[in-house]
Order: sequence, then structure tokens, then C-alpha cells
Amino acid sequence: MTTLDQFSNWGAVASAMRRAAENLVPPPDMLPSVWAAKNVRIPVGNAIPGPINFDNAPLQRGILDAIKEPGMRRMDLMLAAQTGKTTCQQCITGYFIDHEPRSQIMAQPSEGDMATFQETKLKPMLEANPKIAKKMAKARGRQGVNNSRMISYVGGWLMFSWAGSPKTARGRSAPVTQADEVDGYDVTAEGDFLELLAQRSATFGDDRLDIRSSTPVDLETSRIHKGWLAGDQRRWHVRCPHCDELQYFRWENVRWTGRQSSGIKDAEKDIAQEHDPASAMYCCGGCGSLWDDGQRIAAIRNAERDGGGWIASKPFKGHASFHAPEMASTFRRLRDIVQSYLDKLALGDLQSFVNVSLGWPFAAGDKADPDGLLARREEYPAQVPMGGVWLSVGVDMQDDRLEYEVVAWGIGEESWSVDTGVLWGDPLGSEVWNDLEELLANTYQHESGALLRIEAACVDTGGTGGMTAAAYDWLRGKTGRRIFGVKGLGGWGIPIVEKPNRKQTGKKKSKFTDLFRVGVDEAKLVVMRRLAQAKEGPGFCHFPLQDEWDAEHFKQLTAERLVVRYVKGQPVREWRKNDRDRNEKLDCRVYAYGALKIMQPNLKRLAERLIPKDLAAARETREQWAARVAETAVKVVETLKDPEKVREILKKQADAPPKQPRIEPKPAQKQAEKQPEITQEEPPAPTRETVRIRRSSSLGTPKRRGGWVNSW
Ligand SMILES: [Zn+2]
Repeated sequence: MTTLDQFSNWGAVASAMRRAAENLVPPPDMLPSVWAAKNVRIPVGNAIPGPINFDNAPLQRGILDAIKEPGMRRMDLMLAAQTGKTTCQQCITGYFIDHEPRSQIMAQPSEGDMATFQETKLKPMLEANPKIAKKMAKARGRQGVNNSRMISYVGGWLMFSWAGSPKTARGRSAPVTQADEVDGYDVTAEGDFLELLAQRSATFGDDRLDIRSSTPVDLETSRIHKGWLAGDQRRWHVRCPHCDELQYFRWENVRWTGRQSSGIKDAEKDIAQEHDPASAMYCCGGCGSLWDDGQRIAAIRNAERDGGGWIASKPFKGHASFHAPEMASTFRRLRDIVQSYLDKLALGDLQSFVNVSLGWPFAAGDKADPDGLLARREEYPAQVPMGGVWLSVGVDMQDDRLEYEVVAWGIGEESWSVDTGVLWGDPLGSEVWNDLEELLANTYQHESGALLRIEAACVDTGGTGGMTAAAYDWLRGKTGRRIFGVKGLGGWGIPIVEKPNRKQTGKKKSKFTDLFRVGVDEAKLVVMRRLAQAKEGPGFCHFPLQDEWDAEHFKQLTAERLVVRYVKGQPVREWRKNDRDRNEKLDCRVYAYGALKIMQPNLKRLAERLIPKDLAAARETREQWAARVAETAVKVVETLKDPEKVREILKKQADAPPKQPRIEPKPAQKQAEKQPEITQEEPPAPTRETVRIRRSSSLGTPKRRGGWVNSW
């Protein structure tokens, strides 16, 4: 028989045996919410720190307990801010570590998002809950693994992966996956990350549980909304204290003094109105009685007791889906929700409100479709069609080239892309800048016959000005004040152009470079919405049917999309593109728009000067015009061959009031050589011709057709 002396560290052995024994005892069968209420403390910094009290958060209790519903294999959480999504995630993670140990994969959109999650959500949760933390391997400890990619614990692993790098999900499997902010996941060449993730749990069959959550973003592409539709569609139902009607919260039923809109669809009615958010009440969908916050919050807390709570509208087939707007939160006052609505509306950012506060995807129609843009290219009647009256160019600087787009702007900022291309060369050298100078000297033929020059250029300095400042300083010296250096500035609520930051460059103190800051996030929003606009008129974007505007052009132009990211718990919308996609054409368009905003030309007055009154006649193409003149000439010749007809015309001429006193009757042969004069006497002469004459005289420089017009 061995003696206990063989073990030098008896205490450690005893504790190891105790831990092993603990793992042999099956966990008591308790609901996850009961376990969480006993074991989980909410970290400081949350709405209500301390032990979880589900009376404050009945929605969370329902979601947590759903993970143990028989047959549950997938859950989609489409939740507004302040409805407890983070707490649910923390409790679920803790439950599968502490109570029912199973391996888990946690997924975030990007590596940065994962670092943020670990720092701001996981770490505080573990610090607040030493009992759970104790079961996990220590960082840099001898036993187990604890690093940024995984943490081991007794009975499983918590693994971290992110959609930006699908390889982080390969070669691992776990029965539980939690994918957070799924609407922010890039589409990668390797396929859909969520599919990949689902494969990681598929081997566990009916034991698997895939949980997805997100602030929804765009209706068309929202993954969480698709998941919500595919699931059993649960909403938090409350009972009216007055009429007993069971109902869920709807934005349409929020009332306050000043509200003119009936929903999000006609939200613009609320712009420029007097509002009193403090008067906000919730209006019962059954009896129309108004609930104050006290009644609303009581209805939420008592929902389950009163026969409400999470109620599905579709049959359950292993996939539950949850949606709740901020009105269903006991942590939010209605007046604050209304204030947030008014703030976002004033900023022109209704989408943020719909996504974040209502937890609903936004049908902005601001998803520009590259194939649709390619298909709708037009034959321009001239280099610059009639409506485009002012030209700007946006230039994007890359290491080895400048890319540009020349845009013609018209009334209501309707736009025509008129030139695009690449100038190859190192921006640190002078050659490429010479080429740009040549481009800036270009003139473009307007449909009216006038020649238009480029009125302004914005050149992206990439914020690194330094070396290139000299180049464009020199360039500016040659081109006057029409060229601006710009620096893209991210963030919302920033003006599209800000007053220039006078930056001293060069040796001479008198030499300044105007560096404009362009609020690129806002500018992109305008550009994207306009690209998505289907109706011609103000804001619409035209593109010519030419080879330079190919599929790649439109792919770049639409390469970025809005996603919601959480920074320190706050939702932030940002533009994102797939890593490998190029977006230079979008930048060019944004800077061309920036140039327009810097110069602020009076487009209406320019249009009045340039566009003839009778636009229909003016829209006649050069070919149509030539054909019509030729046709008339043939008729004249035919007429002159017939002396009978000539006599008839001359007689009519003599009888008519002397509107053309200059014309003398002449022998037929001589007149034939002077066609233009005779055409005016031709009886079937199209009335349009008089229009043309008026038009040409109203134009200062009838360049293209000058010879003809002047002889009339
Ligand atoms: Zn009622």
C-alpha cells in the first residue's frame, strides 16, 4: 500500500480531486435564468450593475431560458439598444462555462471588434464573476490556454473567431456558437462566414446551438432580419391596463405633442415642427388609452404574469427569433426615445434611429446596385448633355497613379459623369502632375454648343500632405485657385466641406496651401443615396454608354456599405468595404462632389444662361439636325425645278405682309446656289427652324454650328 508521503504537495492533490469530483456531479437541473440570477453579477458600467435582477429585465430572462427549450438549435436576436443583448451573451457564455460546460465559438465582425469585445465585455464579466473566472485557464498560466484566440476551461474551450478572417473559424468545432453583429460581416471570397460557422457546430447534430445577434442595418441585405423571418418571430407582448388587449410595442403608437408623422415612412412631416418630447406617451393599440412610463414599464414587468411575454407568430421548428424595440425596455424613458428620434431626424440620419432604437432594418433604397448602373448608361448627345452646366473633377491619389472623374453638375445637383481615367506616375515626381495640369486645361463640348472648362478640382492628399504638398502647391501656382487639397475626415454630423485649414508649406512664408477637410462619411451617404436613386431629376446620376464606364467602374463606385459597429458600447455606423475590393472611383466621385460644395456655384443661374428655353428643339442631335437641313435643301432644289411652283411661291410672297423685305425675286438658277436664304421661303419649312435661329442668337458662342447659323 502506498503511503500519502509519496505526494509532496498533498494540499494540491486534494483540491485537484475535489475539482475532479465536482465535474462528475451532474449539474442541478435549473433554468439558465435561475442559474444566472444566482451566479452572475453584472459588471460595473452597465445600466444596473450587481446581481442580475430579471424583474428589471424580463426580456432577457425569456431569451436566456430559450436556450434550454427542447429542440432549440438556432436563435436570432434582432434587438434594439438597451434591451439586454450584451447581458444575454455574457450569461450564455458563463452558463456554458460554469454550469453546463460545453465548447463555444464567439464570433465578431473583425479582429478589432473581437479585441473590443474581449476588453469591454468578456473581461469585465469575468472580473465581476470570480467563480466563473476560476474555472478558466489563466493568462500565461501553465495549465490550459488563455490567449486572444482561445481560453480553455474545465470541460471545454471558448474560441474566438472573426468574419474578416474565415480561417479563424476553420479546423475548430463546438456545439455552441455565438455570432455577434452579423449584419457587419463582410462577404468574403471564401463564402458566407455564418455558413462556415454553422458547419463548425453541425457535427453535434441536435445538440448544437447557433445564436446570432445584431443591430439590423439594411433591409435588403440584413442577415439578422433574414434570420428573424426564418425563425418563429417572437415579440414581447404586454397587456393594456385599461382594456386587457395583448399587444407588442410599435413606433406608430408613440404619441407626443408635435408629432405629425404616422410612422417612419412619413417621418419628414416631423421636420421643422415644434416638438415636446416630454409629453411622450404610449397609445394602446386596442382602446387608444395613453400609458405613461410607469404604466408602460409595469406592463413590461408583469407581461408574463398577465399571459404575455415572448409570443411567437410562427410555429417553432427548432429556430427561435426575437425582436424588441427600445419601447420594450424598462431602462429607457419614452421621452428619451422620442428625443433620439428628433435628433437623428435633424441630422438626416433616420436610419440610425430605425436600426438602433427600433431594432429594425432600414429600407433606405440607398443600396446602389452596380449592375443596374451599368445597364442604365446612356448615349450622351454631346460630351456634356444639356442639363450639366458646371464641371468639377475629383482626384484620388495612389502610390503610383492619380485616378480621376470629371462630373457635370446641373440644377438640384443632378449629375453627368463626363470623363474618367487614370494618370500613371509617382505622385512624388512631377510628370503625373503635368498630366493632371493638362487634364485641368481640357474643355468639354456642351450640348448647347458651348465649351465648358473644369471649374474646380479636389485632390485627395491622403492626409499625408508632406511630400505631395510641394507638387500641388506648384500645380496651384499654374492653375489659379481652382485646385484644392482635401483630407477625408470620418465621422457623422461633420459638414461635407469644412473651411480650409491654412497650412503653411514651402520655404516662402507667403505660400499657403488650402487644405479642405471633407466629411467623407456624410458625403458618401449623399453619393450612395443618389446612385441608388431611380428617378431622373434632382440628385440623379447619369453615366455615358462608353467603355471607360465598365463593370469595374461601377463595382468600385458601390464598393462600400454602411455597417453598425459598437465602440465602447455605443453603436457607430461606418462605411466598410471588403479588404480586397477597390474603391477609387467612389473616392473620385466624393471629391468631385466636395469641389462642388466648396465652390457652391449658382447652378440655376448657370442653367438659365446655358440652356435654351425650348429644350425639346435644342435636344435635337447633330445628326438629326443635319438630316433635317439636308431634307429641306432637297425639297428646295425639287421646288426650283418646277417653274409653276416657284411662281406660286413668289406670288404668295408678294401678297404676304413684307416680313422678309430683304429677299428679292431672283432667277431660279441663281437662287439655287443660295440655299440658306431660300429655305426660309420654302412653304413646308419646319417651324422648328425659327426656334433654332432664336436659340443660336441667344447663345454667346455658337461654336459648332456657327457657320450655318450665322448665314441665316
Ligand atoms: Zn387598451
